[in-house]
Amino acid sequence: MNELPRLLIISAHPDDAEYSGGGLASIYRQSGRAVKMISVTDGSAGHHFRKPAELVELRRAEAAAAGKIIGATYETWDFPDGSLEPSLDVRWRIIEEIRTYKPDLVLTHRTCDYHPDHRAVGQCVQDASYLVTVPNVLPAVPALRKDPVVAYLPDHFTRPSPLRPDVIIDITEQVPTIAKMLACHRTQLFEWLAYEGDVLDTVPEDESGKIEWVESWILGHIAYRAERYRDEVMKRFGDAKGTEIQSIEVFEVSEYARQADASVMAHLFPSGKTS
Ligand SMILES: [Zn+2]
Repeated sequence: MNELPRLLIISAHPDDAEYSGGGLASIYRQSGRAVKMISVTDGSAGHHFRKPAELVELRRAEAAAAGKIIGATYETWDFPDGSLEPSLDVRWRIIEEIRTYKPDLVLTHRTCDYHPDHRAVGQCVQDASYLVTVPNVLPAVPALRKDPVVAYLPDHFTRPSPLRPDVIIDITEQVPTIAKMLACHRTQLFEWLAYEGDVLDTVPEDESGKIEWVESWILGHIAYRAERYRDEVMKRFGDAKGTEIQSIEVFEVSEYARQADASVMAHLFPSGKTS
């Protein structure tokens, strides 16, 4: 394991990584740890008036700008948004990425999720988890001796089971940074998601108003996490603080990749509270 652990977030769309794991990514960068965020799809689908080719270019630039907010690399791949399948091509690309970037921790989607692209990415990361150590799979890229720990990003789905809170992180201090990162995704937040949520008329004109709008948007969208896991939050942070915390990230460690003992978990999830 690297002295300073390296984080790789493999998600389906530009903005997924910071939406679900932006707090931990910020904490990593604050202590000089390397972070790379990947959108496996090109982001070409989610919009009501922009055409796919234009959207791909805009969203690639928006994602890169979001990465710059915390000094992280943000890469947008070319698989088509809205049509991703858990194919061998995607699996091999992910194996190549993990072998090349050599992360200590990989975060990704679960395979039960509303979005087929999320499910496909989660499946491909799961399929790659062990194979990154097998030399005759994708022999052109040297295999790793040890696979990284893989953990699932928080989501609110319950079937077949809700996410198990192996690690809980208080991200209260990171929320403003997450909002700044999300605000870089202008075509998503201020156009598509505002249109989809029927709140276009509430988006402020000025820049600082926009950031405040995103901050309140993200706080609303992640509020369910602290409520769902309130008993665990109180147990791990103490009754006084545990009652107050409103913004958390929760991660479940995948059983299909390397397992981590308590000291490795502390190394990979600084300020994280484990069960
Ligand atoms: Zn997504």
